[in-house]
Amino acid sequence: MTGSLLADTAPVWDDGRWTPLPTLHGDVSADAVVIGLGGSGLTLIEELLRRDERVIGIDAHDVAAGAAGRNGGFLLAGAYDFYHDAVRRYGRERARAIYAATLEEIPRIAEAAPGTVRPVGSKRIAANAAEIRDCREQLAMMQADGLPAEWYEGTDGVGLFIPTDGAFDPLTRCRMLAARARRDGATLFAKTRVDAIEGTRVLTPHGVIHAGRVFVAVDGKLETVLPELVGRVRTARLQMLACAPTAEVRIPCPVYYRGGYEYWQQLPDGRIALGGLRDHGGMEEWSLEPKPTATVQSALEAFLRSHIKVSAPVTHRWAACAAYTETGLPILEQVREHVWALGGYSGTGNVIGALCARAAVSAALDGDSAPAQRLFGESWSAKVTHGGWLAQ
Ligand SMILES: Cc1cc2nc3c(=O)[nH]c(=O)nc-3n(C[C@H](O)[C@H](O)[C@H](O)COP(=O)(O)OP(=O)(O)OC[C@H]3O[C@@H](n4cnc5c(N)ncnc54)[C@H](O)[C@@H]3O)c2cc1C
Repeated sequence: MTGSLLADTAPVWDDGRWTPLPTLHGDVSADAVVIGLGGSGLTLIEELLRRDERVIGIDAHDVAAGAAGRNGGFLLAGAYDFYHDAVRRYGRERARAIYAATLEEIPRIAEAAPGTVRPVGSKRIAANAAEIRDCREQLAMMQADGLPAEWYEGTDGVGLFIPTDGAFDPLTRCRMLAARARRDGATLFAKTRVDAIEGTRVLTPHGVIHAGRVFVAVDGKLETVLPELVGRVRTARLQMLACAPTAEVRIPCPVYYRGGYEYWQQLPDGRIALGGLRDHGGMEEWSLEPKPTATVQSALEAFLRSHIKVSAPVTHRWAACAAYTETGLPILEQVREHVWALGGYSGTGNVIGALCARAAVSAALDGDSAPAQRLFGESWSAKVTHGGWLAQ
């Protein structure tokens, strides 16, 4: 099936045992509607249910059909930037606050979806001498701030080991969250695409949802649901492949390489899941089309063979979309009255997406915007017109 570089399979995480959710037919109402049933939307729903809200959740496809169920499965503390870069960009206080909040979020993710998380740490491996120096700077800054990090030199290369990070099965996690949300009273619909949001009415092809509040928890393609965010987020396609179980290598924890451009992990059954080389695809990868391409897939396969030194056959090839911001900080704000947007995690949304979901509910329901302000203040209420990066 995957002989072709353009094969588009289910992600390696899919065990094929999910029963699709029903589709919305007719008009319905709720206290809150959550658009997007990925990890962020499902965490929002969990928080809303905890506050006794009547919740409807919808997805254009199904649970975790986007990046949330098709990603590399890394659970990394911090936001997009490495810690020392974050300190330079946002100042020590905010960088520390973001790092501390994500450190707290990882065990919450593990607790909410038991059995899906492996607390094995992660490695940042340098691709060249300059990156080795950068790893040393990162280590020094993390140690100065009392954050767990160790120097690593071994079979995986040279760089850092971050013991508090981990790996997880992102799709099973989301499916578990969705099943529990339904048991706890949320009404979830699949194949229910939002065509427009008018006030707090959500228009879909087969019905209208009337709600007190709307949360748009869509990372990849956020700007298509909320056009006012065009210019502040930009969607990219990221691609992955996985191979058959192999004993050719033993990789104990997730590895990110070349500043995170390549990332891989070995699953408990021995398969390697590998992503990256987006820059190899050039401008074409700024795309709303989550389809594998021959250019990136052939580069990934070559990397699997030459760098990871695995010859096992490729069994899965897939792609998904993730939204990037110029600041590296997510969008988390009320974009219209009672309409909240969260996304733009710049390729690292597994942990920070859940964090944003909790902060959004606090801000919207409790009127407590302090957590979001403290973490992501720059993007909180900014009405910024960004310059050149979108044209790159
Ligand atoms: C290949 C790849 C690898 C990655 N690896 C990692 C990693 O290892 N670690 C990490 O932290 N992050 C990683 N990321 C980023 C991470 O996956 C995402 O930031 C995160 O999963 C976003 O989750 P979400 O729930 O916010 O949004 P999404 O997963 O984007 O979910 C949005 C949902 O909204 C639905 N939707 C979209 N448009 C509409 C509409 N009009 N109407 C209704 N529903 C709609 C979609 O179907 C989708 O299910 C990776 C991303 C990709 C693509």
